[in-house]
Amino acid sequence: MASSISTTVPTPQQAAGLTQDESTQKTQTLQVAKRLEKFKTTIFTQMSSLAIKHGAINLGQGFPNFDGPDFVKEAAIQAIRDGKNQYARGYGVPDLNSAVAERFKKDTGLVVDPEKEITVTSGCTEAIAATMLGLINPGDEVILFAPFYDSYEATLSMAGAEIKCVTLRPPDFSIPIDELKSVVSKNTRAILINTPHNPTGKMFNRDELNAIASLCIENDVLVFSDEVYEKLAFEMDHISIASLPGMYERTVTMNSLGKTFSLTGWKIGWAIAPPHLTWGIRQAHSFLTFATSTPMQFAAATAIRAPDSYYEELRRDYMAKKNILIEGLKSVGFTVFSSSGTYFVVVDHTPFGKENDVAFCEYLIKEVGVVAIPTSVFYLNPEEGKNLVRFTFCKDEETLKSAVDRMKKKLLKK
Ligand code: GLN
Repeated sequence: MASSISTTVPTPQQAAGLTQDESTQKTQTLQVAKRLEKFKTTIFTQMSSLAIKHGAINLGQGFPNFDGPDFVKEAAIQAIRDGKNQYARGYGVPDLNSAVAERFKKDTGLVVDPEKEITVTSGCTEAIAATMLGLINPGDEVILFAPFYDSYEATLSMAGAEIKCVTLRPPDFSIPIDELKSVVSKNTRAILINTPHNPTGKMFNRDELNAIASLCIENDVLVFSDEVYEKLAFEMDHISIASLPGMYERTVTMNSLGKTFSLTGWKIGWAIAPPHLTWGIRQAHSFLTFATSTPMQFAAATAIRAPDSYYEELRRDYMAKKNILIEGLKSVGFTVFSSSGTYFVVVDHTPFGKENDVAFCEYLIKEVGVVAIPTSVFYLNPEEGKNLVRFTFCKDEETLKSAVDRMKKKLLKK
């Protein structure tokens, strides 16, 4: 991450609550284990604090600025009133495990045992960490597609994995299958996929998923599949790779409540995997968090059993938001890449003459009053993301329109 943005946010000492004096006396230099040394304050945290500092409209970090549905909030309040307040069963309250299994069957046709094949975690982020720590040995190779969500690299580093990376390139971010084949080796343990894909909005199509599946079966490789945006699929149907022939037994499917129910702060997620993989995930989960918030799990079960109309309405609402933002960004003069799913869209900022994504985002915050996410942090080689920035449309329509107006006023003049 280029230093220009890092210098405008709190230093690590300030973030740790130390004054300058205390930090020199007590810490000398900041101490951090080697496995985490290279990582900075997450870009989402950085950009959201800058949004507050500059009074900018935050189209950066992906959290809705509207609330989740009342029937889910009421279920949480009821669970608290009913005394569901002590530790949950480690791998999930039975009702939530069952609700996840029912939903998975409806979506994929796969029948899984809620007791043996589902682990409830503190958000998908913990499912990812537990999967890496529970199934990866130091030195194992794991393949990522860049741009990739930041926690993948950090949790793989904690697990001691070697990262191999294949880049998805604009305009369509399709999978370069030959490149993928060329990075598979006898040490490859897993391929991590994310569809619909953050940050690009790309959805992996059936041909791409079949190609990944054949490669995994031939080489005895696992798939870790992050599907948290599956219900925000606009241009095509979402396909879970676990549902392809021969794949369930080698796939960990990860998902969460946050995006689908606009409750990103609840941190309820899960991993679905056959028993021989679930064992490792549960072992890591047991010692990371042991169990997840009990009343929220009961409410999550209610949420997941929502009628189809809930999911349809969610999709419709997001389609409208997406159109406002995409049409707006086009009218401002960005090259906008098509986003088939998620609540993100990636644009090429180079028509506005800034040297890279970080410089552009800095200008956008300070001079225009809008926050976007520079994408270079999502690549092993930041140069690859320097022309691209990500906007989110998980905001109310008025906010999206105001952001577009601000950009039109300042950027159209250029
Ligand atoms: N998933 C969210 C995004 O991509 C951010 C989550 C976080 O802040 N760690 O914007």
